[in-house]
Amino acid sequence: MFEPYRTEPYSDFRRPEARAAYELALAGVGAALGGHDPLVIGGEHVDAGEPLESRDPCRPSELVGTVAQGGTEHVDQALDAAWGAFAAWSTRPAVERAEALVKLAAVLRRRKFEFAAWETYEAGKNWAEAEADVAEAIDFVEYYARSALAMAEPVPVHPWPGEINHSWLQAIGAGAVIPPWNFPLAILVGMSTGPVAAGNTVVIKPASDTPVIAARFLDAVAEAGIPPGVFNLVTGPGAALGDHLVDHPRTRFVNFTGSKEVGLRIAERAAVVHPGQRFLKRAFMELGGKDALIVDETADLEAAAAAAVTSAFGFQGQKCSACSRLIVVDEVYDEVLDRVVTGAGQLDVGPAVDNSAVTAVISGRQHASILAEIESGRDQAKLVLGGDAIDRDGGFYIKPTVFADVPADARLARHEIFGPVLSVLRAADFDDAVRIFNDTDFALTGGLFSRERDRLDRARRELRVGNLYLNRKITGALVGIQPFGGMDMSGSNAKAGGPDYLRLFMEMKTVAERL
Ligand code: NAD
Repeated sequence: MFEPYRTEPYSDFRRPEARAAYELALAGVGAALGGHDPLVIGGEHVDAGEPLESRDPCRPSELVGTVAQGGTEHVDQALDAAWGAFAAWSTRPAVERAEALVKLAAVLRRRKFEFAAWETYEAGKNWAEAEADVAEAIDFVEYYARSALAMAEPVPVHPWPGEINHSWLQAIGAGAVIPPWNFPLAILVGMSTGPVAAGNTVVIKPASDTPVIAARFLDAVAEAGIPPGVFNLVTGPGAALGDHLVDHPRTRFVNFTGSKEVGLRIAERAAVVHPGQRFLKRAFMELGGKDALIVDETADLEAAAAAAVTSAFGFQGQKCSACSRLIVVDEVYDEVLDRVVTGAGQLDVGPAVDNSAVTAVISGRQHASILAEIESGRDQAKLVLGGDAIDRDGGFYIKPTVFADVPADARLARHEIFGPVLSVLRAADFDDAVRIFNDTDFALTGGLFSRERDRLDRARRELRVGNLYLNRKITGALVGIQPFGGMDMSGSNAKAGGPDYLRLFMEMKTVAERL
């Protein structure tokens, strides 16, 4: 019925045509900056509250746009709209839901560079990072559309004499989607289209730093002809709206991705049964990481150092999968550190619109928090690269920063900084490296560079993370190919882009009929 699933290709921005196309998209979106986006409730645009501003992190004087400031009453209305749409959407044949999603993917694909350009302005993503985010969003929609068909198949059960037995999966209801800002389209789209593909409806509360991209996605939903109320959008202050949405007795599930601190708070609150609530909420928390890459003495050191630099400083280290600990075996420590410092020092820092390798971090708040971590890091380890802000257009720039000889118990080696800061740790040998790698509460991504087959095999068994990468960078999981999600304090292991994802938002019904 549908073509086989395949991931969306990336552009080669060394090619003049690709560059010209991206520049055209930047010009088009640049001319549209400064608009206003209302809430979307039941397909209606609803304006509310004092407008909230979203600004370009590379040039904060540039207003990307304003959005409505929803209140708790809008969360109530959005949940009403989502439950209102649920009856019809959940009972539509899976193939119709899948077709609707494939149309949505087509809209996103048609407008790929336009969406990417919004990310360049609103999130400070350079061209390749922005395009990859939109490509991943498209992949999620295509992949989950096909998953919906698989989930609609009867659940295989054994026959029993004298009875007809049937089991099937069905949607559970209207839920909350609370994404982070760092993959402002891909994660928002994946976290909402998964449940929707399964027949649920959603209220999305986007991250406060990237609400305009969320509003553009709701435009695409309308353009694709998805019925009103299936996707609802309430922008506004994260904590106040988030708490109300999480606590609400009609919120059937909470799909959260973000920091450990906020996720733990939500997990606790979602467990409370409020008056009028008729179900136990399902709650999925995909949280942070302190991801490590081990380099041993047998590794291709050039490839390892290049992978460490890409994994640590891609999108300014603002990826849950970013390499924030580089653990190097003593014998090759000095050489790897040297290569990493040289490679990171060569990255150009500048505006996202100019496609710089490293651009500004997302906000003034993050800028201050990262710089404070760097300041305190000076007392914990040896600063060997960067460490300062760059003053340019008022943007939130921080130089790629490397700390060497970081003790395994230092804050630099334990706390998720979420910025362009890499801690390099010395391990006595491979066994010591494995011990350091696993000595953290987080278990999201990680990797090993080695030429020893035994060690690669040991890594498979012993390195405790949800996504392990061998002899390659540790970021950039592909939908449908590398299901993504951590273990331990990195979250509930929802495994986005994996074959079981939709099952999280479904329940099984079993009917036995006596013949
Ligand atoms: P965050 O926790 O600050 O915010 C996440 C979302 O929660 C936002 O939409 C925010 O507005 C909302 N929020 C804030 N307070 C809330 C409350 N009291 N109730 C409900 N919602 C509330 O995280 P962030 O800064 O947006 O994102 C960065 C974090 O996300 C990092 O820790 C990163 O590692 C993590 N992350 C994890 C994954 C993963 O798949 N595991 C992927 C991307 C990012």
